[in-house]
Amino acid sequence: MSETLMISVSGMRGHVGTDLTPELVARHAAALGAWARSAGRPLVVLGRDARTSGAMFAQAAASGLMSVGCDVIDVGVVPTPTVQLAVEHHHAGAGLILTASHNPIEWNALKFVGPDGIFLDADAGAAVRELASHGPPRAGWDGIGSLRRDDEALERHLDLVLGLPEIDVAAIRNRRFHVALDCVHGAGGGSIPPLLERLGCRVTGIGLEMDGRFPRAPEPLPENLGDLGRSVLASGADIGMAVDPDVDRLALVDEQGRPIGEDYTLAFAVRAVLDAHRSAGSSATVVVNLSTSLVVEDAARELGARFVRAPVGEANVARAMREESALVGGEGNGGVILPALHIGRDAPLGVALILHYLARSGGSVSDLVAASQRYAIVKAKGPRGAELRPLYDRLVARFSDATPDERDGLRLAWRDRWLHVRPSGTEPIVRMIAEAPTAADAEALVAAARELLSQGIQP
Ligand code: MG
Repeated sequence: MSETLMISVSGMRGHVGTDLTPELVARHAAALGAWARSAGRPLVVLGRDARTSGAMFAQAAASGLMSVGCDVIDVGVVPTPTVQLAVEHHHAGAGLILTASHNPIEWNALKFVGPDGIFLDADAGAAVRELASHGPPRAGWDGIGSLRRDDEALERHLDLVLGLPEIDVAAIRNRRFHVALDCVHGAGGGSIPPLLERLGCRVTGIGLEMDGRFPRAPEPLPENLGDLGRSVLASGADIGMAVDPDVDRLALVDEQGRPIGEDYTLAFAVRAVLDAHRSAGSSATVVVNLSTSLVVEDAARELGARFVRAPVGEANVARAMREESALVGGEGNGGVILPALHIGRDAPLGVALILHYLARSGGSVSDLVAASQRYAIVKAKGPRGAELRPLYDRLVARFSDATPDERDGLRLAWRDRWLHVRPSGTEPIVRMIAEAPTAADAEALVAAARELLSQGIQP
């Protein structure tokens, strides 16, 4: 097995053709099916993004699932959150999503979803891997599962989003927004234009063909959104929107063609939801991860919400949102979660919330950004020794005026800045990330972490 095959809590990803093969996909799909079957629900929803390997792996996955006696409902090329919602809709025992999210074109992946529509946790993921390693029990000729299509999953998803009380569809339609859209040839091409159409928007699109041939790095980071920025300017659009290939992350470009950074997606969405729930007052709770920008924390505090941070990772945020009965939250990377809809990052939801907020504010995207406190985020990495405890102790001693949080590496927080130092989950490195009112302040925090890290490495 190639070393590029990477196993995670709720699935695995690898390079197509070398380590991720139809045989491997079929075996792990069969294991997920056996797991669902053993819980008494032998029904699995299958969906995928637009990658060139998707159709091939979908056939292999369906075969694996049917071979253990699972019935399969194939929802086709749709956003990841559409599959999660379909699992709930069909009361399925599991969901299987074939997507490597924002990873480059040579990758694909299996993502396992539980009966609650949330990605599998560590225990369930380990149980599926165990079944895969031993070879799940296969059905005989009379026990093979069935396969059917569900072409309504996306429509149901969009209906649910547009039916949310937080979203004033009439107000959005009245504004007749012109939206420049970049779906990077992923699954967004089939889902975001129909959503925008229902919201009365005019769309200037690039990368709407769902052929999986990404013309740029597919992560919706500011440095990858140059074409979208130019499209906004050339078309005179009110806003630019970019989604990642599996449509769970949304990034924005202002009306002057400038990518504003993914953190603003969640900040604006949080403002939209809290605004719609003003009567809830201080009982509203917002949950984000430890590395999410202060622009989201500011939004929650200004609108009187309780603010909770969870360890990095969608599963951690999802669990915290459930435990805290959160009203809204997500991840600063453009992943908006509204538990009233579903506990999972959802870009169609993000699109509707952002347009709602823009319609209500009456201003432009750059006005909204200008009204927020600006921060600079600086990221760095360094070599990881065997033990990070001494580094954390030195950091806590150096910054004794900060509030430490050790649930996920070490995060030191002040009112207007923070430093987060954590081991990478995939590489032997330490990640250092800081946010402060100015780039110089953020640089200084990262420089201090770097200096204390190097002290520990010197003999
Ligand atoms: Mg994604």
